Amino acid sequence: MITITRLPEPSKLTEKKDKWLAAYLKKKGEVPKHRPPSGQYAHKEIRDILERMSNNKCFYCECKLGEDSEMKSEVDHYIEVAEQPKLAFDWNNLYLSCYDCNRKKLSNATMPVSNCLNPCDTAENPADHLTFKHEYIRPRANSSKGCKTIKKYKLDRSELNYSRLKWVQRFEHFLRKLRERQLDNEGRKLTLREREAVNSFKEPHHAFSLMFRVYLSEEDL
Ligand SMILES: [Zn+2]
Repeated sequence: MITITRLPEPSKLTEKKDKWLAAYLKKKGEVPKHRPPSGQYAHKEIRDILERMSNNKCFYCECKLGEDSEMKSEVDHYIEVAEQPKLAFDWNNLYLSCYDCNRKKLSNATMPVSNCLNPCDTAENPADHLTFKHEYIRPRANSSKGCKTIKKYKLDRSELNYSRLKWVQRFEHFLRKLRERQLDNEGRKLTLREREAVNSFKEPHHAFSLMFRVYLSEEDL
């Protein structure tokens, strides 16, 4: 998880949200289990802006979504509509998530969002609460918020560890090649291009960039 700056509300949502909400609440009054139509809250225009905000990554686990990955993106309600139906079309309640984070997360009633990190809260830095050892995520300095965030979104699930491991291996292979080249050239410094390539791993567009930020802070390059 990294901090995500929310872009302005998509015009489609501004235009339609009141109408969509009224229709949804009316139907819900008749059929209590009725869900808001995903064709509305996950409309292409809304999804596109969420994707732009996160560089096409899950807001919670930072896996790549869409064209760059086999993972499809889902528009997620930060606080579930089951608990807060009125937030079904609220721009600040719409997040982009991978299938697993969306389906596996604990409900707000079980693990309130107020106890966890919020990627859209720019006043808070997830790096202060989360760290990594190899591909495994850990709360930093026993942070309670870090701990609860890992639990809420199951950020320690094995599928995610495996995805992170694949990236760690790619990164280590890349570093090994770089070090070999340095040794062949009597320990020369990294060129600007090499340094940029190394640092690209921790840029916000990169999958699991927070993990690589931790990794790179420990590397002596
Ligand atoms: Zn995810």
